[in-house]
Amino acid sequence: MAADRDVVIIGSGPAGLTAALYAARNALDPLVLEGASPGGQLMTTTEVENYPGFVEAVMGPQLIQAMREQGERFGAEMLQVDATSVDLSQRPFIVEAGKESYRAKALIVATGARANLLGLESERELMGHGVSVCATCDGAFFRGKELLLIGGGDSAMEEAVFLTRFAARVSVVHRRDELRASRIMQERATSNKKIEFLWSHVLVDILGDSGTGVRGAMVKDLKADEVREVKCDGVFIAIGHTPNSDLVKGQIELDAKGYAVTREGRTLTSVEGVFAVGDVADSRYRQAVTAAGTGCMGALDAQRFLEAAE
Ligand code: NAP
Repeated sequence: MAADRDVVIIGSGPAGLTAALYAARNALDPLVLEGASPGGQLMTTTEVENYPGFVEAVMGPQLIQAMREQGERFGAEMLQVDATSVDLSQRPFIVEAGKESYRAKALIVATGARANLLGLESERELMGHGVSVCATCDGAFFRGKELLLIGGGDSAMEEAVFLTRFAARVSVVHRRDELRASRIMQERATSNKKIEFLWSHVLVDILGDSGTGVRGAMVKDLKADEVREVKCDGVFIAIGHTPNSDLVKGQIELDAKGYAVTREGRTLTSVEGVFAVGDVADSRYRQAVTAAGTGCMGALDAQRFLEAAE
């Protein structure tokens, strides 16, 4: 087993990489277990227009690469492996990554979140072939096309409005007859002439094949109890996210939805020396900049913890 590390960071989205930058600059010699598919959700995002400091949009993967190089410049060690298990019952904490094992005096959990899916067979088969969970990534492929967008929250409204930049029409399929989204997002969507609503409807199947893409969908009108076919060229799913917290489940406190519980305004979890940052601890903001911000907080909280423990 390798020597004890001051800080091990699990995850390599903006939260993990910002934690790595701050920890490295503060001489904590961080090890980042980036995951087998590093970079998090920004890797499947095209233009990021709301990350401060970029007057013009920056591409998601480019932003991640810059954050990664910035951390490495100050000595952060990055390993492209999945953490497979952790033991947080004693310090130093043990982090297993396949056959390798690491001992950490402080652990920063930055494992992010992933998009929820409906669970349809056709949704899985056609993902990337006309079905998408990321409007910003895939919207531009649907110029002049007709789209279905599933969901009634802020993400769904934001994505519906975004998709009208490209699509001829966006039909929002929502399972209730009122939206969960905030008033302002509702107004933006309902006042957009390219957006129509299929209230109290659910998607029951997506029609098409991986060669030619999506040609339609079967939707069910819950009030009329009727299933019908609608024509569309693409389906976007925007029904929320699930935190990637299985690794720490049962070891740190999680909320009912599986998000890491942190002390208000801090990154401290229920286990002393374990810090949670980014989307794994944030069901509300879920922005690259808020993830980066909490990544910074996590590194500073870890540093204070290590200093107090000396
Ligand atoms: P959300 O608020 O949980 O909304 C999920 C939506 O998907 C809900 O309308 C829900 O329907 C629907 N849904 C869930 N499971 C479904 C299923 N199996 N079949 C059909 N529909 C399903 O998630 P979100 O929109 O991703 O937002 C997450 C958080 O980020 C929220 O706090 C939100 O305010 C915030 N956010 C804010 C902004 C912004 O302010 N600009 C943008 C994006 C996100 P029901 O309504 O019937 O439950």
